[in-house]
Amino acid sequence: MVDLKGQYDKISNEIDNAVLNVIRSTQYINGPEVKSFQQELESYLGIKHVIPCANGTDALQVAMMALDLKPGDEVITTSFTFVATVEVIALLGLTPVLVDVDPLTFNIDPRAFRKAITPKTKAVVPVHLFGQCADMEAILEISQEHNIAVIEDTAQAIGATYKFSDGTTKKAGTMGLIGCTSFFPSKNLGCYGDGGAVFTDDDQLAQRMRVIVNHGMEVRYYHDSIGVNSRLDSIQAAILRIKLRHLDQYAEARNAAADYYDYAFANNPKLLTPKRAGNSTHVFHQYTLITQNIDRFGLQEHLQSKDIPAMVYYPVPMHMQKAYTDPRYKEGDFPVTEALSKSVISLPMHTELDDEQLKYITESVLEFVNR
Ligand SMILES: *Cc1c(COP(=O)(O)O)cnc(C)c1O
Repeated sequence: MVDLKGQYDKISNEIDNAVLNVIRSTQYINGPEVKSFQQELESYLGIKHVIPCANGTDALQVAMMALDLKPGDEVITTSFTFVATVEVIALLGLTPVLVDVDPLTFNIDPRAFRKAITPKTKAVVPVHLFGQCADMEAILEISQEHNIAVIEDTAQAIGATYKFSDGTTKKAGTMGLIGCTSFFPSKNLGCYGDGGAVFTDDDQLAQRMRVIVNHGMEVRYYHDSIGVNSRLDSIQAAILRIKLRHLDQYAEARNAAADYYDYAFANNPKLLTPKRAGNSTHVFHQYTLITQNIDRFGLQEHLQSKDIPAMVYYPVPMHMQKAYTDPRYKEGDFPVTEALSKSVISLPMHTELDDEQLKYITESVLEFVNR
């Protein structure tokens, strides 16, 4: 699905030097590379505070810990997401409240969000799924009305830009109270291991999150609150500094591949190409088709036989997962999510796809679809 080797080959000199420099410096934990990366990401995103941590799941957990929520408080998110979003809500003893998504953007449906609000609702986690922003203007408006904290899960959309109706623009993850991201290798800004970060413009929250990721410790060996140990390695920070400089160009390469796919599949009655929301740029973490009246796993097998990977993100909605079974939910409750999980398929999407590969992939898809 990704070509990390091809991407590395183009920047290997820079990367190798940066990694060796960290090794020789012996400043492996919270070294200067971490601080520099943090500052560079702050200026790229246009946000006051970036706090790096160990992975995207921790980022979500740290964000929710910083809000001082109480057991039973409700956090709203979608059933069509990666498990991490729901997992941390449950782990912290909070109540995940699931809602349905928009059938074309795969992102949280603001009307469903509004309907799910109760007096216990304390936070909402819009997930900017597959690379474009949720309808943040509507979500922020509803949240302000009900005093709900907005935690953006931008693990799949770092670098995407959202445009408000007054013309102002903001980067994904910088619109709500806290943004959370992941630097997992296959993410758009990926390191060579695990990594993540939280961002906020709020000075007090930033300070709390800095303390939380460091064992609840402000003064060494004095612990004022219960924290966690969640750090970004210096080596990973050094790699991310280099890849951040390429991030916009990587998004362009992904968009060029998406355009190729769009063109090849346009007007095919069996394939619905991904909609580009008018108010957000798309950074194509995934290129996800909605199939109609074809055997999706048959297509996946056909592609596999031609050495083309294809994946289903996500085959089982959160409310249908064994771990998250809840008497509040049953099959049929989220019809859009359920229909999507039965019909989507994602094609290879990365920064190194060339026309020859795209031609081979699209022809192979059409060979099966037009059979
Ligand atoms: C990848 C991902 C995460 C978790 O990130 P990790 O770094 O793997 O912990 C959370 N949310 C979404 C939407 C993701 O895609």
